[in-house]
This record gives sequence, structure tokens and C-alpha cells, in this order.
Amino acid sequence: MKLEGKKALITGGNSGIGLATAQLFIQEGAQVAITGRDQKTLDEAAKLLGPKATAYRADVADSAARKDLFAKIKQDFGHLDIVFANAGIAGQTTTGKTDEAIFENIIRINLTGAFFTVEEALPILKDGSSVIFNGSIIGSLGQPGYAAYAASKAGLRGLSRSMAADLAPRGIRVNVVAPGPIKTPIWTRNTRTSEENDALSKRIASTIPLGRLGEADELAKAVLFLASDDSSYVNAVEFFVDGGAVGTP
Ligand code: NDP
Repeated sequence: MKLEGKKALITGGNSGIGLATAQLFIQEGAQVAITGRDQKTLDEAAKLLGPKATAYRADVADSAARKDLFAKIKQDFGHLDIVFANAGIAGQTTTGKTDEAIFENIIRINLTGAFFTVEEALPILKDGSSVIFNGSIIGSLGQPGYAAYAASKAGLRGLSRSMAADLAPRGIRVNVVAPGPIKTPIWTRNTRTSEENDALSKRIASTIPLGRLGEADELAKAVLFLASDDSSYVNAVEFFVDGGAVGTP
């Protein structure tokens, strides 16, 4: 098992990529703390994951909630070996039509929240730990109508490189996993009908060299690699898991 005895925090561990990663980490021997804002899905996830998981309700964009969260994790876990700063939202911010509050909320959750999650974790992060941010290919490619989301994910790239330099003296590695389109509830958290969602999925799949969307467990395997000693010399990289979307001409 690749994470035997390790203790991991996964923000947004109650859904999609975070939940699939929590499942895989537990299979590989880790004890996992998951967070989210929605109590119902947190309860469902905790039930699914079993006794090696502990669920905490906390908004990554709320500094008081973050402090509270880490006080509880310190009490329950003692220390952490892995932080997967995964929580994030998508939301439309079309140029010329965007309210500043909506733009700022996306940045506050996806970028500021991710940074300060790690900041709060530092006192209990063991030397030699692994930090992984969940970026996106949209941070490199952009996407019409998604300026704030693209900026937040591009921001994680620079942020992670700076943080990797800051934390290297402690042997803490900091990397970004950058997914292409992955089948998760993020796609259906809107008012589209299932027919519209199917049409959207088909259209997006046709832009991916491998011709399909990815599955959450395919992303989880990449996060496991970055979290485990298999990647012991991998630091400050952006690891695209995207069916070739960014890498192909
Ligand atoms: P989901 O919508 O299934 O998961 C998002 C998770 O983030 C949920 O667990 C949600 O929990 C949590 N979350 C959102 N806002 C907050 C907040 N303020 N505080 C705490 N938790 C929060 O989608 P995915 O699994 O797809 O998304 C996970 C990450 O992957 C995101 O960062 C997303 O940008 C990234 N990503 C996803 C891609 C995809 O195609 N699926 C592609 C590229 C990147 P709750 O609702 O309970 O708050």
C-alpha cells in the first residue's frame, strides 16, 4: 500500500474528484480528513468511506472556519502528511457581463481559500509532506465566459511554485494536478437539462485528443502519484491529466 500510516486532508472530499481521491487514499492505507460545506453530502461521503475517514463541515473561503477546522484536525489527527487542496467552484464570468462580487467569490474559494488552507496546515504538516493543488487546463487554455475561473486556476500555478520554493527547506513538495474535463457533479450544478448536459459532454469530448471525458478515479490515481513516495523527486510541476488537451498541437 502506497500511503500506509499516512494522514491526509482533502478539501471538497464530499464529491467528485475529492471523494474519488479519498476512496483511493483509504484503499492505499491512509487516514483521511474530508471537508465541504454541504452537511448532507459530507454525511453520505463519511458513510461510504467508513472508519478511516472523518468529515468536517468548513468553508475554505471563511478564515474563522479554517482556523476552527485545523484546531479540530490537530486534535483528531495530530499531524498531516498530505494536503490535497481540491475544493473549488466553477461559475460564469463573461467579459463585459460580470458582477465584481461573483468574480471575487470564485477567486476567494479557488485561489485564496486554497492558499490559506495550506497556510493553516503548516504547523501540523510534517517535514517531507506532499501538497497538491487542484488546478485545471482552463488555467492554461482559458475558456470563453470563465475569466475568473481561468484566473484562479492559472494563479495556482504561480502560487505553487512560490510555495514549493518556500517549503523546500522542510522537504515539503508542492505540485498542481491540472485536470481536463472530468465527469463529476460540477457539470450538473446548473439549470441545464440532462439532454443539454449530454450534448455539452459530447461537444467537449470531441475537443479532447482521446475523444472522451475523464473519470474521477483517473484523476485520483494521478493525485495518489503526487501524494506518495512514487513522486519523491517531483516538485513544483503542473501535472496535466487531460487526455492530451494541452499537450497536443
Ligand atoms: P464537485 O462539484 O463534485 O466538487 C467540488 C467540491 O468542492 C465539493 O466537494 C464542494 O463541496 C467543494 N467546495 C466548493 N466550494 C467550497 C468551499 N467554499 N468550501 C469548501 N468546499 C467547497 O466538482 P469536482 O470534483 O469536479 O471539482 C473538484 C476540483 O476539481 C475543483 O477545484 C475543480 O475546479 C477542479 N476541476 C474539475 C474539473 C472537472 O471537469 N470536473 C476540471 C478541472 C478542474 P460543498 O458543495 O459541500 O461545498
